[in-house]
Amino acid sequence: MRFKGALSATLKVKRMASFEMIRTVAGMQAQAESWQRGGLRIALVPTMGALHAGHLRLVEEARRIGEKVLVSIFVNPAQFAPHEDFASYPRQEAADLEKLAPLGVDAVFAPSAEEMYPVGFATRVAVGGPSEGLETDFRPHFFGGVATVVTKLFTACRPHVAVFGEKDYQQFLVVRRLSADLGLGVAIHGVPTLREPDGLALSSRNAYLLANERRTAPRLQAEMRGAAEAIRAGKAIDGALAGAAVALADAGFRVDYLALRNAETLAPVADAAKEPLRLLAAAWLGRTRLIDNIAV
Ligand code: AMP
Repeated sequence: MRFKGALSATLKVKRMASFEMIRTVAGMQAQAESWQRGGLRIALVPTMGALHAGHLRLVEEARRIGEKVLVSIFVNPAQFAPHEDFASYPRQEAADLEKLAPLGVDAVFAPSAEEMYPVGFATRVAVGGPSEGLETDFRPHFFGGVATVVTKLFTACRPHVAVFGEKDYQQFLVVRRLSADLGLGVAIHGVPTLREPDGLALSSRNAYLLANERRTAPRLQAEMRGAAEAIRAGKAIDGALAGAAVALADAGFRVDYLALRNAETLAPVADAAKEPLRLLAAAWLGRTRLIDNIAV
């Protein structure tokens, strides 16, 4: 790997590929504007790094729908509460860049926290609607931080489309709402969750799981599937969810929520027979918090 200069450089990896490495908002805007002038469709994949195959699926999708592919890597302090894992969140930029090299990425935007939130920064973007409840009941700071950084990323990267994983389903809907409400002009494209063969959704935080927890972790998805099938078969929703929650607790999970919601708005379900449904869950295994969701 070779960097030309500290702020913006062409990175060459194994002679297979090269992409711009951009560290500043101004540098990013200049690059994006030059692509825009060329009439090129920019697809952005926002990430916090520690890239796994799920992230790489998003990049492949961006390649398919965009003419210039931009990946951002930024562990966003604004979406972590003081007691959460910001300091210990995995950071492995060199390995991330190697993973991106063969995928035809045109630029990686990896700013510092000071670049994104300079001294005096005092703005926070608040989204209502789909951000209410679920994650917000347990991480009240979270979507404000996400909405703020996504707005910053969109103004820096000027994308036509941004690709998000359905793994973070509530986040996907919040960002879609944000882009529509503020007229940011960015189409939000969702990609289905990539899973391990045993059903566990890929996540950077899976690295925190101890060996025995890793063996238990697929139970979250399995119990969700069971509950979804029971609901589809006509079982009472409360009973199906309560049964799955008890099974998860017995398996060693501490469940934050396991909830059936309207798949478009995330509002509580009024008439299950007439609405698109999504089952969403967050649960702790030891010190690791897992989230997952499935269509019902
Ligand atoms: P993160 O780095 O965890 O903030 O995730 C960056 C993007 O990757 C988000 O849009 C996530 O929803 C998406 N993502 C994370 N895990 C997966 C997965 N297993 N399958 C598909 N997308 C994912």
